[in-house]
Amino acid sequence: MKDRVAKKETEKKEEKAESTPTVVHGETCPICHNKTLTLAESDIDIPFFGVTYLFSMNCSSCGYHKADIEADEQKPPIKVSIDIDSEKDMKIRVIKSSNATVKIPHIGTIEPGEISNGYITNVEGILQRFKKMTEVLRDDAEDKADQKKAKNMIKKITRVIWGQDKVKLTIEDPSGNSAIISDKAVKKKL
Ligand SMILES: [Zn+2]
Repeated sequence: MKDRVAKKETEKKEEKAESTPTVVHGETCPICHNKTLTLAESDIDIPFFGVTYLFSMNCSSCGYHKADIEADEQKPPIKVSIDIDSEKDMKIRVIKSSNATVKIPHIGTIEPGEISNGYITNVEGILQRFKKMTEVLRDDAEDKADQKKAKNMIKKITRVIWGQDKVKLTIEDPSGNSAIISDKAVKKKL
């Protein structure tokens, strides 16, 4: 019981850490040029990372969406890796900027760039994104062999999410705006 109360209090504290977003409606969309773009900005104090700004743009006409994050404090370029090998690891917090390259060997890569988004998630959130990417590969596969390969990758990711298999996750970010918040994470200079 005591534990449950303590947990509730930490959750509350986390909720409070994020500021109410500043929202601006009616901006011009860079894609369809309608004045239907909504900008939102908020900040959150992330333990072991610091104050981080969250930005997003959403267009109600064309569906354009862009999101990114930026740490208040300038950080050096980073390369960070972690071995994911239990269900418990799913909750590890991951901060990924649009400049980050996220790699899981033999599974795939999330590339940085203009169409890449920045977000705060956890290991499970990253694995679910890889799963979705691989499902697209499976559905688009022209030949049986590629389709089978994608199917096996999806199985593997699912097993990792259930804590029944392991993978190594690596994030490289020249902007320094990414992190994996865990004692298990191994940081290197990029
Ligand atoms: Zn638009």
